[in-house]
Amino acid sequence: MFDPITALKEYVRFPSVSTDSKYAEGMDGARSYICGLLKTLGFSLEVVETERHPIVYAERFGRPEWPHIVLYGHYDVQPADPFILWTSPAFAAEERNGRLYGRGAADNKGPTIVHMAALQSLLSKRPDLPLNITYVIEGEEEIGSPSMPAFFDRYGDRLAKADFMLVSDTGSPNTDQIVITTALRGLVDLEVRLTGPKVDLHSGIHGGAVYNPLQALSELCASLHLPDGSVNVPGFYDDVVPAEDWEREELKRYPETEASYRDLLDVPAFAPARGLNPLEAVRFGPTLELNGIGGGYQGEGSKTVIPREAFAKITCRLVANQDPIAIQDKVIATLEERCPQGVRLNVRRGGTAEAYLVVPPNRPNTPRDQPASLARAFAAADQAIESSFGRAPIYLREGGSIPVIADFKKRSGLDALMIGLFTPEDNLHAPDESFDLGLLSRAVTAFEQILSGIAAKD
Ligand SMILES: [Zn+2]
Repeated sequence: MFDPITALKEYVRFPSVSTDSKYAEGMDGARSYICGLLKTLGFSLEVVETERHPIVYAERFGRPEWPHIVLYGHYDVQPADPFILWTSPAFAAEERNGRLYGRGAADNKGPTIVHMAALQSLLSKRPDLPLNITYVIEGEEEIGSPSMPAFFDRYGDRLAKADFMLVSDTGSPNTDQIVITTALRGLVDLEVRLTGPKVDLHSGIHGGAVYNPLQALSELCASLHLPDGSVNVPGFYDDVVPAEDWEREELKRYPETEASYRDLLDVPAFAPARGLNPLEAVRFGPTLELNGIGGGYQGEGSKTVIPREAFAKITCRLVANQDPIAIQDKVIATLEERCPQGVRLNVRRGGTAEAYLVVPPNRPNTPRDQPASLARAFAAADQAIESSFGRAPIYLREGGSIPVIADFKKRSGLDALMIGLFTPEDNLHAPDESFDLGLLSRAVTAFEQILSGIAAKD
């Protein structure tokens, strides 16, 4: 038997930074470590080679008629730099005031240990637990999961035999209020470049004759929103699945108000799209954001120049049912149509990711083809979270993106029950990342009940 806190410390001490080849040994160590835990839990293991970091694929199979779940996680972590800002060394796994500090302690090593410790406890009481489990733990989540498409090519059909997946790679507002995430936003990336004259021009000699690329870019970018905050791209909202009334009600239970949110961000006023309040807008609506804009003279003092070019970096967050490629096409077509004649437009298409949405069972518009085990899982999660944390979970769409979740749905048809174990104090991706050990032990109890509730009745 392993002790969850000891196991988490040992796991965090492997510096598994996937983006930096210096950490190859840490990646190998972390992967071997979880393989070891899975072996003690009785799983058969396959280490699936990829171009960079192998994927751990593990199975525990009994009878084909048992419910079958997929547990997804990742053993890689973000870089820990700047190291100087850490109170204790980033991979020392130091325990202070009920928290374990270290890069990856929360994202995603803590939740992985929670799942495994819950399983260990349950199997010690019910060694013949009637539940088929597949583990997929990848080592490239923090660099965008580049090996997952090829993995789905090889394993997609096997995964498709499962009923649904269970994931803890999302957040909750505090250690007493757990959120079940029902949606993730998709993403579209593009970069716009406007070019005017062949070189920068003297504004005294040529000013007045040519269309200044910065002026053209400003006009073009400003045209992308309406005064009511909505995105002014024809067809942008066509396929949006609006939030249901129950989702708006559920959001009211979230321990944040418009005023506390405004204080947190220190903005003079919010600017949500029409029909949404700010708390709704970050979860229920799609966006178009200018992430960077530039061109012309940026140095000290002034320079009377007409710059030869200007650029803008744009991304959109999409909600369920919006096709990222179609949205990218619509934004580009709009830019082309509105671009003034005096400049040339060049658009670089960046990456895209699909949004994801699962409607929990027993809500309006729940799809009829949801497996019965998914309904049992949501019911078990609801009860287990309320009994372990003292409050029923809140079912909430999230504004962020985890593209691999939509890929599991697309490639293998699996929906996800996403139970958030991060809290804002965890400092994900930042110095002094940590995981709350009180939450860890309550979550182990809750997950034991959840897994037991999903298993067949014996
Ligand atoms: Zn993560």
